[in-house]
Amino acid sequence: MLKNYSDQDERKLVIKYFACIGFSATALMGSLAIFNQQYILFFTLFTCSSLFLYSWFIHKKEKVAASIISYTLYTLMLYLVLTGGAKGTGPIWIFIVPPVTFFIRGLKLGAIDSSVFILCIIAAFISADYFEIYEYNSPELVFRIILCFFIVVLLSGFYEFFRESHSKKIIALAKENETLATKDPLTGLPNRRYTIDYINELNKPKHAPLSIVLFDIDDFKKINDTYGHSVGDQALVHLASIFTDICCSKDIIARWGGEEFLLVLENTTENAAIKIADTLRLKIQNTAMNIENQSVHFTISGGVKEISPADSIDSAINSADNNLYRAKNNGKNQICC
Ligand code: GH3
Ligand code: MG
Ligand code: MG
Repeated sequence: MLKNYSDQDERKLVIKYFACIGFSATALMGSLAIFNQQYILFFTLFTCSSLFLYSWFIHKKEKVAASIISYTLYTLMLYLVLTGGAKGTGPIWIFIVPPVTFFIRGLKLGAIDSSVFILCIIAAFISADYFEIYEYNSPELVFRIILCFFIVVLLSGFYEFFRESHSKKIIALAKENETLATKDPLTGLPNRRYTIDYINELNKPKHAPLSIVLFDIDDFKKINDTYGHSVGDQALVHLASIFTDICCSKDIIARWGGEEFLLVLENTTENAAIKIADTLRLKIQNTAMNIENQSVHFTISGGVKEISPADSIDSAINSADNNLYRAKNNGKNQICC
C-alpha cells in the first residue's frame, strides 16, 4: 500500500492564496471605485471579489476553484482593457494573468488559456478603439504591452514546464525509495519494516479482532542443500505467489525474513484465522513446483495469535512464534494457536 504522491495539496494551497489575494485586491479597488462614484467599475469589482471569496471557500475542489479564479480574472482584465480602467492604466493589470494561470491551471490548461487570452486582449484593444469605448493615445504603447505580455506568457510557461518536470522526477524518486524501503526485492511482498508499521496502525479497536499468523516453510534447508540456493530463491517466489493468490486484497502477507512469512488478518478472530491458515497450508501442500523435472511439494507450519488493542506488537509476534515452535515440535505441516 504505497502512499499517493502528488502535488495536488500544494496546488490547493496556492489556489487558496490566490483567491484570498484576488478577493482583497478587488474589494479594495471596488471601495475606491464607489468612492470615485464609478458605479459600473464598482459593480464589476464587487462581483469579482464575491467570486474570489466563493473560490476561497471551495478551494479543496481545486479544479472548480481554479476555473472560477481564472475566468473571473480574465473577465476583469478584458473589462479593464476595454474600458481603459483608471485613466488608461487598466491594461497594466493583465501581467498578473500568465503567472496565476500557469500556477493554478498547470502547464497544459495554462498554455491553452494564455493563448486564447492573448487573442481576446488583442480583440479588446481593437474593440475599445472601434466602438469608441476608450481611446488609447499611443498605438506603440499598446503594441509593446501585447509584445511584453507575450514574453511574460512564454517565461511563465517555461517556468511551469521545468517546475512540473522537476516535480515528476522527485515524485518518481520518492516512489522508488518507498518501494525499496517497504518491499522485499525477491518476492515483491511487503517487508518486515512495512508490516510492523502497518500492524501498529491497524491495532486499534475499529479493526478488532486482529489476528496474525507466522508461517515457516518446513525443512527448507534441504531444498537449498539439494538443488542450490538459486532454486531455493525460486521456491520462495513460488510460495509467495500462492500466498498472494489465496489471501484477500485487504489482508497483508509479508516476507518476515528468511523462509518465514507473516499474514495479517483484519477483523478476524483466532478461530477464523486458524481456518484461513489451514486453507493456505493445504494449498501449498497440494501445489507442486517443478524442479529439474521433478514435482517437489512443500509444507508449512504456522502459529496463530489474535492481537488485542492493548497488546504490543512484539509480544503478539512472540506468542505467534511460540505457537509456530509448537507446530514444528508436534511434527510440522500444521497450524497451532
Ligand atoms: P524447519 O522445518 O525447522 O523450519 O527447518 P528449516 O530447514 O526450514 O529451517 P532452518 O532454519 O534450519 O533453515 C532455514 C533455511 O532457509 C536456511 C536458509 O539458508 C534458508 N533461507 C533463508 N532465506 C533464504 C533465501 O532468501 N533464499 C534461499 N535460497 N534460502 C534461504
Ligand atoms: Mg525459519
Ligand atoms: Mg523452516
